[in-house]
Amino acid sequence: MSDTLLDSRNLAFELYEVLDAEGLTERPRFADHNRETFDAAINTARTIADKYFAPHNRKSDENEPKYVDGAAELIPEVKPAVDAFLEAGFLNATRTFEQGGMQMPNLLSQACFAHFQSANAATSSYAMLTMGAANLIENFGSEEQKERFLQPMIEGRFFGTMALTEPHAGSSLSDIRTKAEPAEDGSYRLKGNKIYISGGDHPLSENIVHMVLAKLPDAPPGVKGISLFIVPKFLVNDDGTVGERNDVALAGLFHKMGWRGTTSTALNFGEKGECVGYLVGKPHNGLSYMFQMMNEARIGVGMGAVMLGYAGYLYSLEYARDRPQGRLPDGKDPSSPQVSIIQHTDIKRLLLTQKAYVEGAFDLGLYAARLFDDTETLETEEERKTALELLDLLTPIVKSWPSEFCLKANEHAIQILGGRRIIKKYPVEQYYRDNRLNPIHEGTHGIQSL
Ligand SMILES: Cc1cc2nc3c(=O)[nH]c(=O)nc-3n(C[C@H](O)[C@H](O)[C@H](O)COP(=O)(O)OP(=O)(O)OC[C@H]3O[C@@H](n4cnc5c(N)ncnc54)[C@H](O)[C@@H]3O)c2cc1C
Repeated sequence: MSDTLLDSRNLAFELYEVLDAEGLTERPRFADHNRETFDAAINTARTIADKYFAPHNRKSDENEPKYVDGAAELIPEVKPAVDAFLEAGFLNATRTFEQGGMQMPNLLSQACFAHFQSANAATSSYAMLTMGAANLIENFGSEEQKERFLQPMIEGRFFGTMALTEPHAGSSLSDIRTKAEPAEDGSYRLKGNKIYISGGDHPLSENIVHMVLAKLPDAPPGVKGISLFIVPKFLVNDDGTVGERNDVALAGLFHKMGWRGTTSTALNFGEKGECVGYLVGKPHNGLSYMFQMMNEARIGVGMGAVMLGYAGYLYSLEYARDRPQGRLPDGKDPSSPQVSIIQHTDIKRLLLTQKAYVEGAFDLGLYAARLFDDTETLETEEERKTALELLDLLTPIVKSWPSEFCLKANEHAIQILGGRRIIKKYPVEQYYRDNRLNPIHEGTHGIQSL
């Protein structure tokens, strides 16, 4: 099997020699696992990513989602890829057996997901958003909300989004203006405009569950006045079937320099005054809940940046081995054969720098994933708390360091390819464009440093 997505020797080294993945199987939650089950999951991820995700990476970049009659259309290859991902159980890799999951450590789930991120950043983002939204409902939603929205998400029937950003409020979420008015039946009516919402519309699922930040009428100013709402694209009937269309309209699509296969949407909530939403948890606590999804997404974005850097590194490494050009300084005889460029010192520098960046960042991301397991499965509360504090400290770094340095890795890969392969037919210029967005979303670079 090819190693174009991720160097399997490096992955095994990280998992089993650096991060002691097998040690996790001594914890009760992971006791049914062993190295064989971990490797089987990784091999399945690699196979599906190779077969379904990688082949349309370029096509989805060249054929962005289209706005047709108020809905987003995608190229036909995206759905079978997402379906294969769902069928193999990767959406619920970390959920318990009772929930229909694989009860895998988060470390292994991230290692599996890395293959999809390397193969196709855009298509894998629909799954990533859904996992985050589902976890948010699982942790903070009511039992009824779990039954109505989480369960179909676990089944892969409903997908999710995070809807925070507004035209005048990006980094400064305290200034959002979307309003939520209480209705007589205990639900809420939302009104407002959100922009740049990834996965805000698509034909991949029966329903889309938007996790929306909005303000109640009595909200105190600032971040302490933000509440979190579930706003489905389609209402869900009491028997669980998908009902009428909710008052959420796709106002348009943004066309970006990268991640072009992911729909980037402008959503209008409540144009007709009938947008039904359901409060999650307590009023005014929404941002603290949303931070869970944002932190998960930050680790996901960091890993996505790593994998784009990694894919570029592997591609430029192979190219450098194959491309003959010139001779070494001590062998200038023009009749001697040319050497492959990997033998030139400057190319070695560019390759080794990439390797250091991507493998270092890969290790950092997986280390954070393992810390996440520690926060849930270490024996004492004290140990779990310490792990959580370290994870909190590292999360902005896991997001931003790869976003900066794995982008630099892509720059080095482009340099190695020279003039011939920066033409669009070859993947590295796309990796660079995809990666350039990572220092912006999920909190800009400057905001992470703050
Ligand atoms: C590909 C992509 C996907 C996205 N997906 C989603 C999504 O699914 N859901 C969603 O809600 N949003 C999404 N966003 C929006 C994203 O979260 C915002 O773009 C981001 O938070 C920055 O907001 P902004 O674009 O308004 O920039 P601004 O907040 O206007 O920032 C502009 C610049 O000013 C700097 N800056 C701002 N405030 C400060 C400060 N206090 N101190 C120092 N510097 C500051 C920033 O670092 C940045 O460099 C996405 C964006 C992109 C590009």
